[in-house]
Amino acid sequence: MVAPVVIAIDGPSGSGKSSVSRAVATHFGFGYLDTGAMYRAVTLWCLRQGIDLTDAGAVVAAAEDLPLGLGADPQDPTVELDGDDIAEAIRTSEVSAEVSKVATNLGVRAVLQEQQRDLIAIIADDFGGVVAEGRDITTVVAPDADVRILLTASEEARLARRSTQLHGTADAATVAATHDEVVRRDRDDSTVSQFTVAADGVVLLDTSALDFDGSVAAVIGIVEHAEERE
Ligand code: C5P
Repeated sequence: MVAPVVIAIDGPSGSGKSSVSRAVATHFGFGYLDTGAMYRAVTLWCLRQGIDLTDAGAVVAAAEDLPLGLGADPQDPTVELDGDDIAEAIRTSEVSAEVSKVATNLGVRAVLQEQQRDLIAIIADDFGGVVAEGRDITTVVAPDADVRILLTASEEARLARRSTQLHGTADAATVAATHDEVVRRDRDDSTVSQFTVAADGVVLLDTSALDFDGSVAAVIGIVEHAEERE
């Protein structure tokens, strides 16, 4: 593959795509773009500014003017809003519960997709390559990426992973509490993006039976295989 290399990874909530994408970017010395952080940042900004999330035009205007700063280092992917570190604030259950309202606003999607195309080009140039992850990177944002992967896992595996990540355990009560964060959110997000079936030319990787290291190795294998075919 000729640098700069673009690797696009999509997947549902709890598929492990963020941590796997960061490890893969680190392995190749590439930059990293978490597009979900952008939808989360718009959501946080609107909540803080008192912008009604059902006011479509106001939320699009917020997305256009968002004072967002994203760091592309996969080992320290900073997220700043107006100079404030919001990396943790965008992961709260309050933001997770509301983010689909922003992500299903088609005007917001158009604005952020355009920004994401620009960022992918800039980061890929800076680092010699980029791993960009989200829900619509393989299909809409970067359909001509060098490598396109859909990372999936069974609902059971995704619920257990997200439950462990959020609450430290995956017993029946915490898995039930994580249901909104995974199943309801994916259902709402699926109305605007297609991330459950691999599109033409997208490699499907089911990580249900793989641990983290196995998932990272499998993605690296797919990238190297794509290189060999060139
Ligand atoms: O990946 P993460 O769970 O952080 O994404 C947060 C939300 O951002 C998703 O639930 C979805 O609503 C939205 N999203 C999206 N398109 C992307 C990335 C994320 O709609 N490419």
